[in-house]
Amino acid sequence: MPKDFLKDARDEYDVVVIGSGLAGLTAANILGRAGYRVMLAEQHYKLGGMATWFKRPGGHIFDVSLHGFPYGMIKSCRRYWTKEIADSIVQLKAIRFDNPMFSLTTSYDREDFTNLLTTKFGIAPQTVNDFFDAARNMNFYDDQSMTTGQLFERFFPGRQDVVRLLMEPIVYANGSTLEDPAITYGIVFSNFMSKGVFTFEGGTDRLVELMHQDLLKSGVDVRIKCNVEKINVEQGSVRSVQINGRTIKTRAVVSNSNLKATILKLVGPEHFDRKFLDDTQAVRLNNSSTQVYIGMKPDELIDESMGDLFFTSTAKEFRTDLLLSRDVTSRTYSFYYPRTRPQGRPRCLIVSSTNAHYSDWATLDEAAYEASKQELIESTLDHLDQYVPNIRQRLDHVEASTPKTFQHYTAHVEGASFGTKFEGLAVSRALPEQVRGLYHAGSVGIIMSGWLGAINYGVIVASSVDAQLMKAPDTSATVEL
Ligand SMILES: Cc1cc2nc3c(=O)[nH]c(=O)nc-3n(C[C@H](O)[C@H](O)[C@H](O)COP(=O)(O)OP(=O)(O)OC[C@H]3O[C@@H](n4cnc5c(N)ncnc54)[C@H](O)[C@@H]3O)c2cc1C
Repeated sequence: MPKDFLKDARDEYDVVVIGSGLAGLTAANILGRAGYRVMLAEQHYKLGGMATWFKRPGGHIFDVSLHGFPYGMIKSCRRYWTKEIADSIVQLKAIRFDNPMFSLTTSYDREDFTNLLTTKFGIAPQTVNDFFDAARNMNFYDDQSMTTGQLFERFFPGRQDVVRLLMEPIVYANGSTLEDPAITYGIVFSNFMSKGVFTFEGGTDRLVELMHQDLLKSGVDVRIKCNVEKINVEQGSVRSVQINGRTIKTRAVVSNSNLKATILKLVGPEHFDRKFLDDTQAVRLNNSSTQVYIGMKPDELIDESMGDLFFTSTAKEFRTDLLLSRDVTSRTYSFYYPRTRPQGRPRCLIVSSTNAHYSDWATLDEAAYEASKQELIESTLDHLDQYVPNIRQRLDHVEASTPKTFQHYTAHVEGASFGTKFEGLAVSRALPEQVRGLYHAGSVGIIMSGWLGAINYGVIVASSVDAQLMKAPDTSATVEL
């Protein structure tokens, strides 16, 4: 008999949260704490979505998306999760750059960047100050017609080197490009500049385990290996969901699944008006990534002077198409020292990440796909050798992931690492106007993606769900009596 992952589940909940990415986990926790009957249904055997990790023989634990997030995570985690989680968030010590235009190390905050821009790049202090203020004062509701490229041209005309310094880490942090609205850059950049780049001590496995424990305390019914096949809508309202073939009634659904998949597959186009469907079809997905995971031999410790995050590029200029090209020129290395997991065996790990197009990988046949992965590994090791000499002799384990890997594990359309482009935010927010009780919380609009963006979006959506459920109190209990 196959295991029943819905054993002892109720027939009805106030809210079903579909997916355990950081936005889904957070929305579920807030609604559970508020006293609602919440089920969290995750199709994978692990919670966390893109916030994930995997283990390999030899004591290696690889983090997939724990590379860096802004200081704001501490406040969000203290308020909506636990003090223990918030207290484990620590600052990365050194962020490094090496490309044909410059090589430098920075603490990646406003003070250090002001110093670098004025002394090393020779920009007037007033211009630097005005740029920081302009970025910091950007809001969601600002004019979206100015692109990030135009913002840079306004303050630093013709300065490709400055653009590279300011933009490269943000491309990495949320997949945005010079062609996206300037606010998608300004808000995220300012978040980082407030205090630097932070990480979670103990690794993603510890974070997700602590979140799991807190969810259980909040009374959330957490279910893994529970694939939501359908969201059932009648007369314009959510009525139930179909999970592993079983129908479970619910008053509201928060889908943490991909925005387009939620609308077009889980609910179905027949429940939305024409204009909304057109807007949905027009939402562009963000790009995906490739990664190479390298575990060093137990006695091969890497000197911490390598820094924590290392942005490298061999491209002579900074261009979006070069960043996404199959012909890799830019690689961001995350160095993990034994302090990343003080509770684990002392290991040094390196993860190389590169932005990538799904289409470059999806069309390959099996043999070509495997060969491309191997080529990605070999070219990464060749490149890394100049920074970590004899890397091939010193490593214990190496493997690669591609956009197809991310799609496989998270059901994200085209393995998008950061959800959708900016237009996805309006579509996501408008869902409950189309179908009563239907919400989406997950990486959208560039700003609401990444670890902090996803958590904060979960908070915003939980508050909307709470408002709706408060307005329409549950009468089923009275009916049953
Ligand atoms: C390679 C890589 C590197 C990254 N680096 C960083 C970084 O350094 N800093 C940073 O802040 N962010 C980073 N990110 C982005 C960050 O990890 C994501 O933006 C964030 O974790 C997404 O959270 P989410 O809530 O949108 O949900 P997701 O993580 O997308 O999770 C969605 C969940 O829903 C589940 N699901 C989908 N459909 C169904 C269904 N029908 N039924 C049940 N479950 C379903 C999926 O299995 C998944 O668990 C990176 C991402 C990638 C891929």
